[in-house]
Amino acid sequence: MAEEITEILQKFALSTKELGGSELELGNVSPSVKECEESLVGKIKGEKVINFVGVKNFVTLAWGYPKGLRVVEVGVNTFQFFMANVKDRERICTGGPWVIDSQILVIRPWFEGFEEKEVEFNIAPLWIQVWNLPVHWISKEVGKKIASVFHDTKEVIIPQGGGKEGRHIKILVLADISEPLMRGTTVKLEGKVKWLSFKYERCPDFCYTCGKIGHSERNCSDGIQLGKGHQDNQFGPWLRAGGGGNHHRKKNQEVHNLHLYLLASKGGDLRMDSLFQYQMEGS
Ligand SMILES: [Zn+2]
Repeated sequence: MAEEITEILQKFALSTKELGGSELELGNVSPSVKECEESLVGKIKGEKVINFVGVKNFVTLAWGYPKGLRVVEVGVNTFQFFMANVKDRERICTGGPWVIDSQILVIRPWFEGFEEKEVEFNIAPLWIQVWNLPVHWISKEVGKKIASVFHDTKEVIIPQGGGKEGRHIKILVLADISEPLMRGTTVKLEGKVKWLSFKYERCPDFCYTCGKIGHSERNCSDGIQLGKGHQDNQFGPWLRAGGGGNHHRKKNQEVHNLHLYLLASKGGDLRMDSLFQYQMEGS
């Protein structure tokens, strides 16, 4: 704020009236603060600008018609949602992910200065499927352990029945979406290191170059340094659950590349033979 006023003073020769300003006391702003305290704030992380009507229609439906909901647009993809009922606010804050037009709407209780604080909207819920666990390891406890690589775990679900692709665990986590999407994680299982792959349900758009939510490859500023043997597209639609990339050959290539990636990045901890074994199982 101090910088802002210095800048303005440098730019304009202000008249006495302009400089005269009034002094605000806390009493003056407290009614609006009180009103704000009964609101949620939200930012849509993405390049597509979603208009007011689109957001209003979306949240009204997705949030189950909260009583007295009032939506105010306060900037590009930035909104404030007023509703008096504290239960509604809690339910919406802990719910989600709210995905509008393939972009994630991150919701938080109102806080002062939210308009400018992009980083405060970096923690968001994501549904993730965990694949490649042997059937006898599929349990809520294991799911919780795996989910501990994320900011927080909200739910672990064991979907019943398998299908052609086998069985998986589903986790709802709070993840830092300013970081690249995790493509999986390694676990040590009965003495062997195994790669568990993640697939994202209702996944918001993300950059196939750096794996981050909020922009596309076209506007990616991350110059990713690839090691020898790494494929160009380190991220891709194959991270989406149920969508693209299920082609067998592509999948094998993907697994192969992950091995190289793991070998390069985790060196000592991974033994070639355990990776080889996984490759045999996987192929
Ligand atoms: Zn990027």
